[in-house]
Amino acid sequence: MPGRRKVGVMGGTFDPIHHGHLVAASEVADRFGLEEVIFVPTGQPWQKSDREVTPAEDRYLMTVIATASNPRFTVSRVDIDRDGPTYTADTLADLSRLHPDAELYFITGADALSQILSWRKVDELFEMAHFVGVTRPGYRLGGEHLPAGSVTLVEVPAMAISSTDCRARVAEGRPVWYLVPDGVVQYIAKRKLYMKPGS
Ligand code: ATP
Ligand code: MG
Repeated sequence: MPGRRKVGVMGGTFDPIHHGHLVAASEVADRFGLEEVIFVPTGQPWQKSDREVTPAEDRYLMTVIATASNPRFTVSRVDIDRDGPTYTADTLADLSRLHPDAELYFITGADALSQILSWRKVDELFEMAHFVGVTRPGYRLGGEHLPAGSVTLVEVPAMAISSTDCRARVAEGRPVWYLVPDGVVQYIAKRKLYMKPGS
């Protein structure tokens, strides 16, 4: 449809948000001329029920802090305000309702892209958004398993950063400076996130 606003959607647990997420969103925004990228922290993630996820409000605030300085980046509460586990189909349906004039581009790293077929309502997903798969160190980026034309692959600067590693670093008293934005380093310390009990 001509004249529709191009809007990116970056879903994630963001526990914590790091520069890998921010670089991916920024690169895809530049590549596709996106007017806005909406970061959407998940509710209780269904793939991660094996570990305790940080309260949604902390993950939401870290995402706001990390994106505040970029005029094109915004943060949505649709997933954290919906009860139950987060499914991307629900995220995209809510965002389409809130932004009826938008053409949505869902941004996902190579690891998440390879799992899309296991996501709920997978057929609807490709009707609701165009998918953009980005490179991530340690994972192979490929879209062969997905419907032709539904996904574009984009190479982004390699950031060998994961939230898992950031949490482990904090727990061990090692630095996360320069892996996550400064404000997020300070928020983690202020709220004592990821520290071992008793430390
Ligand atoms: P965790 O280790 O807890 O799984 P994570 O670093 O993988 O955290 P998520 O919140 O799970 O971060 O990821 C959200 C999205 O960002 C996913 O699509 C993921 O593939 C992508 N992503 C995360 N880190 C990177 C990175 N370093 N480079 C490119 N994409 C990334
Ligand atoms: Mg992950």
